[in-house]
Amino acid sequence: MAGWSEAVEDARIALMSLADRMEGLTNPTLRLGVTGLSRAGKTIFTTALIHALTKGGRLPVFEASGRIARAALEPQPDDAVARFAYEDHLATLAKARAWPSSTTRVSELRLLVRYASPRGAMRTLTLDLVDYPGEWLLDLPLLDMGFSDFARQSLELARAPARAALAGPFLAALAATDPARPADEAKARELAGHFTAYLAACRAETVAMSLLPPGRFLMPGELEGSPALTFAPLDPRPKGFPSGSLGAMMERRFEAYKSAVVRPFFRNHFARLDRQIVLVDALAALNAGPAALADLERALDGILAAFRTGRNSLVSALFRPRIEKVLFAATKADHLHRTSHDRLEAILARLVERARGRAKQGGAALDVVALAAIRATREARVTRGGHELSAIVGTPEAGQEAGGHVFDGEEEVAVFPGELPTDPDALFDPSGAGFRGLASAHADEADFRFLRFRPPAGIGADKPIPHIRLDRALQFLLGDRLA
Ligand code: GDP
Repeated sequence: MAGWSEAVEDARIALMSLADRMEGLTNPTLRLGVTGLSRAGKTIFTTALIHALTKGGRLPVFEASGRIARAALEPQPDDAVARFAYEDHLATLAKARAWPSSTTRVSELRLLVRYASPRGAMRTLTLDLVDYPGEWLLDLPLLDMGFSDFARQSLELARAPARAALAGPFLAALAATDPARPADEAKARELAGHFTAYLAACRAETVAMSLLPPGRFLMPGELEGSPALTFAPLDPRPKGFPSGSLGAMMERRFEAYKSAVVRPFFRNHFARLDRQIVLVDALAALNAGPAALADLERALDGILAAFRTGRNSLVSALFRPRIEKVLFAATKADHLHRTSHDRLEAILARLVERARGRAKQGGAALDVVALAAIRATREARVTRGGHELSAIVGTPEAGQEAGGHVFDGEEEVAVFPGELPTDPDALFDPSGAGFRGLASAHADEADFRFLRFRPPAGIGADKPIPHIRLDRALQFLLGDRLA
């Protein structure tokens, strides 16, 4: 049966892809995916991008921007997908000087960009932005896995030193479970509850782990409490689980997760993207420590694997996944002084390079950038004890703490964010001794401590919003299509 349903799936994807392409012939259209793990900066990036295009941002490197005559919001193309709440997000930034709420589901928005071609003719590009949780992207490799592969990988991670303590209650519940016993809903819920709590604990600020499939366990949306989300990995058995057992039930639910959650996402959203930006909060991993950085690297492996999904088992030659450009972007670069922006980029390049070496992937063009979609700080030189130091000035969010001082959300301060190393290798010491993070024994000696700042004052409907290197990102993602 699986073979047949996959063939139907192939045909559906091919048809949708064809329909998208036919539309693209008469009306050039680009679908740009914006993704990244929770709190990586998707909502802020998407809001800033729309604002820059529709209101004319300062985008010197985005050469074509001089030729954009007008960009306007249009009704979005897919009736069953939420609209990206651009106006609400902008109002929160402008009126409350607060960050808007983050992405928890897929949402879309369509822009019509009028531009002058090099020969002077006016042309139109339809730009569809698709904002979706990176956790869902990390689910795509599950399509190529059976329950035992998933369980093996997932338990290996849970038992690794960096996570074993967080997974303690789940692993204890697992040890007390005999998966060959008859299926039992209460037991399934108990295990799934512990497993979900473990995944959530991995996201805490001091731990900042990245690789946490299945993604919907942390972002269940309307599926909360459904059987497809009520399973947990179990130690595989060579002969499998007897029918009617708890193990067989978990296996069935894992398959249901793939068919009810992962496949529709692949078909309806992912397979239709032309280009993709993956936002990465590398600073959060640096705050937390070497284990978080290593985990981020594994997550990037998973993300690169996602871009290959469909090349193997899922879809036949009928359908070519069409993502042609992928930009990895380290966000929140405004937490660093200018001197460290290239270093942040080098760290990300190093993370992506290593993952790419393993993924052996061809196809999509890759690039990396360090950016701040909305710049919340400015730079200053401060003299301390006769030395001139590079500082950044901003308003830390209420409750943020540095050197025993708790900020009230109003006071503006100059901070010395600490420099990133010139050689990224310094951070990747295999023994984990590259640097100290909040997760280490002496959290107060952490090498990096990036405060959270409020958005800048003075964001208004028609004024450009300050940013760092947003223009470079746009140039890579869109520049050639506006030429
Ligand atoms: P999402 O979960 O990926 O949608 O993440 P958001 O876009 O909501 O960003 C999460 C948080 O990161 C925001 O609430 C801000 O605190 C912070 N953030 C995101 N982008 C920037 C940026 O460009 N500069 C600064 N200073 N903070 C940012």
